Amino acid sequence: MLIVITGNGKGKTTSALGQAFRSVGDGKRVLIFQFIKGPWKSGEDNKEIWPKGFELRKGGLGFVGILGDKLPRAEHEKAAEKTLDEAFSELQSGRWNMIILDEINNALALNLIKLEKVLKFAEECWARKIDLILTGRDAPKELIEIADTVSEVKEVKHLYNEGKKARRGIEY
Ligand code: ATP
Ligand code: MG
Repeated sequence: MLIVITGNGKGKTTSALGQAFRSVGDGKRVLIFQFIKGPWKSGEDNKEIWPKGFELRKGGLGFVGILGDKLPRAEHEKAAEKTLDEAFSELQSGRWNMIILDEINNALALNLIKLEKVLKFAEECWARKIDLILTGRDAPKELIEIADTVSEVKEVKHLYNEGKKARRGIEY
């Protein structure tokens, strides 16, 4: 089962986390890799609240090319590549029933990783009956085509547009 959660509104990552919560409740083992998201702490990084069978790994270095990012692009590419390679080895380990690649669509849109590699990842998940969730804005049409379920979160309003700051526990 391949699920894609895309669109410009708030609720993609939190939706994937909600799905993870439901699946672990059903006895499944769920692993999330977060691309791009960097060293800052988000509510979901708090290991103490992780349910049995749930794990989250951060694989990014933070914003790419915006908001004061001073890292060379190659560093971001290397980090994204490394995260995807790690995801491949976890997929092959047989330990997981569901894998979530959070912000992978953004990593693709920024050209940090190759679409072919993600398509191959999806195929391997399919062959091994591992459920896969891909999140992030601007999902490529190739992923939308092969997905079983695609949801687009559309911004109707967002507090950011009123110049408000991101709130801990809500936005991160
Ligand atoms: P969330 O993690 O809250 O579910 P998201 O995964 O849908 O959000 P991302 O595109 O990953 O959204 O955005 C990362 C950050 O930007 C989050 O803090 C999110 O709340 C915020 N955000 C989401 N949508 C918008 C928007 N339309 N305008 C401004 N900020 C947004
Ligand atoms: Mg997100």
